[in-house]
Amino acid sequence: MVKLSHQSIRREMSWGMASEACCYVYYPEDENDLLEIFELAKVRGMTVGFRGAGQSYGDAALNGEQILVDLSGWNRILDWDPENGLITVQSGVTIAQLWRRVVSSGWWPPVVPGTMNPTVGGCASMNIHGKNHWQVGSFGDHVVDFKALLPSGKIVYCSRLKSQDLYYGMLGSFGMLGCFLSMTLQLKQISSGEVQVTALSAANLDDLLRIIDIHKDEDYVVGWVDCMVGSSAIGRGIVHTARHLDLPSQNILTDDVAMSTHELPTKILGVLPAKYLWIFLRMFNHRMGYKIVNAVRYYLGLLRNGHRFVQSLAQFNFLLDYIPNWKRAFLPGGLIQYQCFVPFGNVHTVFHKIIQCCTNSKSPPYLGVVKRHKADDFLISCNLDGYSLAIDFSVKDSNRAGLSSLLAELDKIVLDAGGRFYFAKDSTLNPEVARSFLGPKTLARLMELKLGCDPGGLLQSNLSRRILPELHGYQVDKG
Ligand SMILES: Cc1cc2nc3c(=O)[nH]c(=O)nc-3n(C[C@H](O)[C@H](O)[C@H](O)COP(=O)(O)OP(=O)(O)OC[C@H]3O[C@@H](n4cnc5c(N)ncnc54)[C@H](O)[C@@H]3O)c2cc1C
Repeated sequence: MVKLSHQSIRREMSWGMASEACCYVYYPEDENDLLEIFELAKVRGMTVGFRGAGQSYGDAALNGEQILVDLSGWNRILDWDPENGLITVQSGVTIAQLWRRVVSSGWWPPVVPGTMNPTVGGCASMNIHGKNHWQVGSFGDHVVDFKALLPSGKIVYCSRLKSQDLYYGMLGSFGMLGCFLSMTLQLKQISSGEVQVTALSAANLDDLLRIIDIHKDEDYVVGWVDCMVGSSAIGRGIVHTARHLDLPSQNILTDDVAMSTHELPTKILGVLPAKYLWIFLRMFNHRMGYKIVNAVRYYLGLLRNGHRFVQSLAQFNFLLDYIPNWKRAFLPGGLIQYQCFVPFGNVHTVFHKIIQCCTNSKSPPYLGVVKRHKADDFLISCNLDGYSLAIDFSVKDSNRAGLSSLLAELDKIVLDAGGRFYFAKDSTLNPEVARSFLGPKTLARLMELKLGCDPGGLLQSNLSRRILPELHGYQVDKG
């Protein structure tokens, strides 16, 4: 039986701190412990959810009043082949551990999120994307193979050639089919640990989408949007494109001095300790504050239009880690993100409508980010040939209702345009919307896989119960 010391009742939070749940948290040491947890859950009539580093914005890694398995302790690098860039890791290894281990040998994880804190298990489970999705696809595209434990007790080994169905089904299945134990990743070879970044300012949405599309074949491209202005400047922003610097062996040195050049600065502008900056940011957590911050950012970008600079890959990719704990600026209510994916042909009209709704709303987003994407073959996927817009909102008691109705309105706009949504970021989708964008064929296949992998219906989360109750056999009013 799993040792009692490995269990505690904890109040866990979503990363954005806008939702929380009390869970029976277990910390298995190995797959035998996990098997025992599955057995325990069956005996007690409970469900089981997984948690990696808890970096999902919404309720994906919560399982209220049920069992939550914290996998962050499974953090060993099992094998590293620097000749071929193949690394085998336990699922609790973080992106931070990964890049720090491989960069000095001239390799880099090909797909990373905007923070280095997530685990590879969490990244595989949500099939995350980076600022280079158009170029290299999502995290799953670089998983050579994985080993997983299913609630049925079976251990499976999957790759594109072996158990292909489960490979394309489990990557992106938000922890609903089984637990990733370990995986082998193919890394990207780099000749320097740096990128050459170019900042381009965009006067409006047309400009922004055009610049992103023109530069989509760079190694990375991402657009920041000021969602606080309307009329002719609607969608103005700054696009950052980046290209790997080909300088043989520059900065790929094994000593500590060279390693420190990859890391993020601990001081902003060379003097301000980054870790206290969130206290300062709190002062701007209101409509006028967002207007000021966005306008300053836009005009600084305009002044430096065309500016080129060199950054380490970590500094470029993990922008959101520059100010530790910045999310605390949004306490007590926390924050949520809404990320929608819209097909190429409809994107201009849809993003225009969305930003318009936001600027007219009492709760506008304080941040907007646009990325270019391509379609893929994974079963559960938000990806399509088009763009995504991610907008972040501060949550307050006074705006919860308004925010819900704003996001419901946006859901409708996105759905009508054939758009999709991303569960890792989600906090508000309802079953009707989730069902509608996934489509009956995908849902039927997911149900089939769920029955095969998890016949007792053990695996659940707050997210899965909210968006797809029928996955767990709950009665659903299909409206
Ligand atoms: C600041 C910030 C920036 C971000 N930027 C991006 C971005 O640019 N692109 C992007 O795609 N995402 C981004 N994300 C989202 C983040 O990458 C995903 O939510 C990711 O899944 C988090 O990984 P985690 O280890 O924290 O997993 P958790 O959040 O703990 O869990 C996520 C899901 O994975 C499941 N899970 C975890 N481990 C396992 C396992 N071993 N086996 C099976 N299921 C498991 C959980 O049940 C849950 O459903 C960002 C998040 C933050 C906070």
